[in-house]
Amino acid sequence: MTQLPSQAQMEAWWMPFTANRAFKANPRFYVGAEGMYMTMADGKKILDTNAGLWCCNAGHGRREIAEAVHAQLLDMDYGNPFSYGHPKGFELANRLVEDIAPKGLNRIFFTNSGSESVDTALKIARQYWRLKGQASKTAFVARVKAYHGVNWGGVSLAGLTGNRKSFGQGLEADFMRHTLLPENAFSKGLPTNGAHIADELNDIIAMRDASNIAAVIVEPVAGAGGVVVPPQGYLEKLRAICDQHNILLIFDEVIAAYGRTGAATMAEKVGVTPDMITTAKGLTNGAIPMGAVFCKQEIYDTFVNTGDASAVPEFLHGYTYSAHPVACAAALATLDIYKSEKLFQHCDTIASYWGDAVHSLKGLPGVKDIRNYGLLAGIDLTPGAAAKVAAKTLPLGVTVRPAGDTVVMSPPLIIQKEHIDTIVNVLTEVIPSI
Ligand code: PMP
Repeated sequence: MTQLPSQAQMEAWWMPFTANRAFKANPRFYVGAEGMYMTMADGKKILDTNAGLWCCNAGHGRREIAEAVHAQLLDMDYGNPFSYGHPKGFELANRLVEDIAPKGLNRIFFTNSGSESVDTALKIARQYWRLKGQASKTAFVARVKAYHGVNWGGVSLAGLTGNRKSFGQGLEADFMRHTLLPENAFSKGLPTNGAHIADELNDIIAMRDASNIAAVIVEPVAGAGGVVVPPQGYLEKLRAICDQHNILLIFDEVIAAYGRTGAATMAEKVGVTPDMITTAKGLTNGAIPMGAVFCKQEIYDTFVNTGDASAVPEFLHGYTYSAHPVACAAALATLDIYKSEKLFQHCDTIASYWGDAVHSLKGLPGVKDIRNYGLLAGIDLTPGAAAKVAAKTLPLGVTVRPAGDTVVMSPPLIIQKEHIDTIVNVLTEVIPSI
């Protein structure tokens, strides 16, 4: 039995995105994880409908990853990535280009998290326009309900309320509306109405002028905002407007990439290619922190081929742990699992069973809307109910995540029909009891 901390020992850790006082009054501990399940301190196994935090796509406790990490630590625990390379970094970048990134996004910049991927992409966008002689293109456009991590760029562009209240002003940003429309309530998959919301980008461009706008950033399917699924044609329209006005389009696929929508990326799934894609989470199955930004070759060429090819770094950006060899080893082992177990295809196949199952909750008291895409789902409930539902499913052996008034789910891609049945049965019992 794992030794748990005493009340006094619990003071030292300032926990992230946690109501610390409430936690300490009523602590919950995970002590183990395997496959679809987390183990609680009392030994109880809990079905994890969130793949950790949208990240353990191949399920928990994968030995292949553990062994790759162990071997890499013994081979080379660390290597300075500034002006030195190492084989695993190149191997992983090539694998991402070949197996994951959409055609054309064939240059990879490594980070350690989704937040870092977002801020990296924003810095690339700004410098790109400077290198092109268009230094006035500095502004960004994002969306209401967006989540782009917690670093300064991402906080500035997140459309979740609370950031400005806590931290004050960040980067200047304009926000488009999110795509939740009442007429799309209870749509399965991509809703039919709402591509016209993309026209708001034209309104912003008319006000700001494209000569001042560097990039538009969107989560193709918004996660933390409550699994907001884009209407058919919406992403295509954003792409067309960005092309017309010479504005970069960034997809934040920190959640969506690595199979969650039934393809390597959502860009591939919907056939819309942005100029950059930010990723993290599923890249290493959540086992070791790592992120990656996929860039169009033309962006890389603009950096690397501008100037005199002297020894000066073209991009004054990078992390001590960029392409950390241990993270690279974890990522390569993860990509092997995705491929050998055909998990992206499995997600694509089981997604319709998942969609039907979560939509069977329609009609339960307090259920306002249900959305699904790939192995993602959001269930809108009456105000305050989502947190109560999450608290009540736990003793019944299922963990779900409240995001505002939405219960969000993103199970490991190894999920089988019987797990889906269990999740839906527990929710069918709990939701009416709130
Ligand atoms: N972007 C999106 C779309 C995310 O969902 C997240 C994390 N949930 C992030 C960025 C930030 O990632 P991280 O927590 O790894 O910094």
